[in-house]
Amino acid sequence: MRLTVLYRGPLSSCNYGCTYCPFAKHHETDEEHAVDAQALERFLQWCGARVTPLRVFFTPWGEALTQRRYQDALSRLSKLPHVEKVAIQTNLSARLDFLETCEPSKVGIWATYHPEWAKEARFLEQCARLADAGVSFSVGVVGFPKFRDALDSLRAKLPDSVYVWVNAVKSSDAGYSADDLAHFTRVDPLFPLNNARHASLGRACAGGHTVISVDGDGVARSCHFIREPIGNVYDARFDEALTPRPCSAATCGCHIGYVHLEHLELTQVFGSGLLERAASREKVHLFRSPRVTQTTSNPSPEGFPP
Ligand code: SF4
Ligand code: SF4
Repeated sequence: MRLTVLYRGPLSSCNYGCTYCPFAKHHETDEEHAVDAQALERFLQWCGARVTPLRVFFTPWGEALTQRRYQDALSRLSKLPHVEKVAIQTNLSARLDFLETCEPSKVGIWATYHPEWAKEARFLEQCARLADAGVSFSVGVVGFPKFRDALDSLRAKLPDSVYVWVNAVKSSDAGYSADDLAHFTRVDPLFPLNNARHASLGRACAGGHTVISVDGDGVARSCHFIREPIGNVYDARFDEALTPRPCSAATCGCHIGYVHLEHLELTQVFGSGLLERAASREKVHLFRSPRVTQTTSNPSPEGFPP
């Protein structure tokens, strides 16, 4: 069975300080870095010891790619025969030389552009570097109306082949006007899908079966949004816990979760780029989810991705 693991270790610092970020207010001590490094190494060894197809997605609390150990992790995992994809969420500020040590066809980069911290020219250079390396990637912004111009500029300067997404701000902080909604939807036709919480209770989701989230202690959960553990990956018989299970949450409002809801059929759009949110522009424009059930009544508790 192919297993997808969303790994989120203790690291929770960032070299940026976005005002809208619930993370990044923390600066790791040397001891905390050591704890994170130990947890990561244990996880990498567990990945290496598996024999069935594996996909790994690093979804840190803060920015991890600036840390050498996470660059090495991408390199190591990408070269393992049974690893099909190793992806990471990042603000793309790190040096990208490490890509030369990776198997690029297996690397996925989810790159978020933060206009108040990143210079556009530098961010575009980094995107060009990813493209030159042959890495699958997507680019996006947090959908605050104040970023509309920055989003448009980025969209205009990136190749058509790069999907530019907009992450909806589902709390009242955004204050979307009808014009904002139309604007973001013109840039990202999947924005309405993201600007909703999908009714998920009892629905079939890969979470807990073929997709799990794992923390630094090895505790596995169906996803980042359901707190109840299903086991610990470092237990010898952990795989017995991997069974189909309907979602136990009322709604699912974050891309990294609802892409695994079966009825949304989002694998049609993202295919092998599912983890890093990469898709062809054509597929994004043509996609109509056949059985979308949405509710917008609950604000998102998840905060923002890096
Ligand atoms: S639908 Fe969302 S909340 Fe429910 S199990 Fe899947 S990822 Fe988790
Ligand atoms: S939103 Fe991302 S880039 Fe910005 S401070 Fe938070 S973790 Fe860092």
